[in-house]
Amino acid sequence: MSVTAQSVWNNCLEFIKDNIQPQAYKTWFEPIVAVKLTDNALSIQVPSKFFYEWLEEHYVKILKVSLTKELGEKAKLVYIIKMENTYGNKQPFTEKIPSSNRSAVKSQEVDIPLNNKNPELRNPFVIPGIRNVKIESQLNPNYSFENFLEGDSNRLARSAGLAVASKPGGTSFNPLLIFGGVGLGKTHLAHAIGVDIKDKYPEKTVLYISAEKFTQQYIDSVKKNNRNDFIHFYQIIDVLIIDDVQFLSGKTGTQDVFFHIFNHLHQNGKQVILTSDKAPVDMQDIEQRLLSRFKWGLSAELQTPDFETRVSILKNKLYRDGVEMPNDIIEYIAKNIKTNVRELEGAIISLIAQSSFNKKEINIDLARIIVEKFVKNTKREVSIDYIQKVVSDYFQMDIDTLQSKTRKRHIVQARQLAMFFAKKFTKASLASIGSQIGKRDHATVLHACKTVDNLTSTDKQFKKYVEDITKKLSV
Ligand code: ADP
Ligand code: MG
Repeated sequence: MSVTAQSVWNNCLEFIKDNIQPQAYKTWFEPIVAVKLTDNALSIQVPSKFFYEWLEEHYVKILKVSLTKELGEKAKLVYIIKMENTYGNKQPFTEKIPSSNRSAVKSQEVDIPLNNKNPELRNPFVIPGIRNVKIESQLNPNYSFENFLEGDSNRLARSAGLAVASKPGGTSFNPLLIFGGVGLGKTHLAHAIGVDIKDKYPEKTVLYISAEKFTQQYIDSVKKNNRNDFIHFYQIIDVLIIDDVQFLSGKTGTQDVFFHIFNHLHQNGKQVILTSDKAPVDMQDIEQRLLSRFKWGLSAELQTPDFETRVSILKNKLYRDGVEMPNDIIEYIAKNIKTNVRELEGAIISLIAQSSFNKKEINIDLARIIVEKFVKNTKREVSIDYIQKVVSDYFQMDIDTLQSKTRKRHIVQARQLAMFFAKKFTKASLASIGSQIGKRDHATVLHACKTVDNLTSTDKQFKKYVEDITKKLSV
């Protein structure tokens, strides 16, 4: 049998699989693709720069051992980084980067455009001896990594957060942008990073602030004529955490000042951590130059947690509160409240409260009543699954057909309608809509929405489809 990149890599994988945790294997090795083999060098493609750094930091030894076994002492490993283009508008491209020198597994050298700091942006402000000011971090110590339970839904964001916390400003995740829907843990994770940094580096100045408060401070500073003090204050911070940056949309003055602060911090190797309820590509009324800065680092999404993660979040909460609860009740709640961790916690808190106020036993009936209250309040938002079902029923096709790769016109139209309604009726990002409707990318969804808009105004029959389905979705 001839030796190919694939065969070499498969043998390495076999060895690695036997030597690390299954979950780690799944997370960090399954996504890798062996690309080519030339002499002693195996090229592997990894999904992101983050991925590459993680491998280098945690798995370089085992990679070296396994590859040396296959290719001998002169073995080399070349990483090819597949850029995360999900959130940008450009075509995907690949690039090669050198593996770091501390690794004995060497690779060839090519430029890295990722960390491209803009050289013409100079610090426009001078800070006069303001160094020794003590700044309160505004961090909530209850929001720790320990309490932030890991699951598939948050693994990337959580590990990126840990990486940033151990080397603030020293990784390529700068800024680190954590995005995701309401109640999925953005604020918690942002605090956890700050708390961990304070723990590891007590001398660093860390500041947590909501974008709303930041905006208010800025407006006040303009009123009081001390805009420069405001800027100086923010420029001496080592780790700046701004929560809910979507709040800046439409606020050009605040965006402008933030842009300057951001550049200053970034150029000085300071860490910036941002959260947002949307991916950068979906943010509206945020200046392009700011959006492009957001994309410099890593955008990591918090998705809705799966059932197992929901159960462990509940159990952890009960454990911390010292409350015992039968498993079937915990599972009942986790099964029925799916889209928001805050509501999950809310339900369990009211359950405990109800039972202690009314001296009632916590049983499944009480759980049912409480869950109903929570679910009723949140049911208004239709799900993407439901939209796909309504649309495919309307056109009398099944969901698999709707999601298929076919270019048949009526199926394409049905799929585009499903995407259009998902954008209209849910808060999901374009990327997330695409991934749920036939694994398409965000550009396809955007295109679908535009096409539906166009057809609705030019094609009577099509307009009728849109009206009919809208009715079905609104009842
Ligand atoms: P967001 O800022 O995204 O709206 P929060 O960070 O306020 O959400 O989280 C809502 C609640 O859910 C908080 O009480 C938080 O502690 C909890 N929570 C979210 N994700 C997790 C998790 N993975 N593990 C434990 N608790 C979580
Ligand atoms: Mg929040």
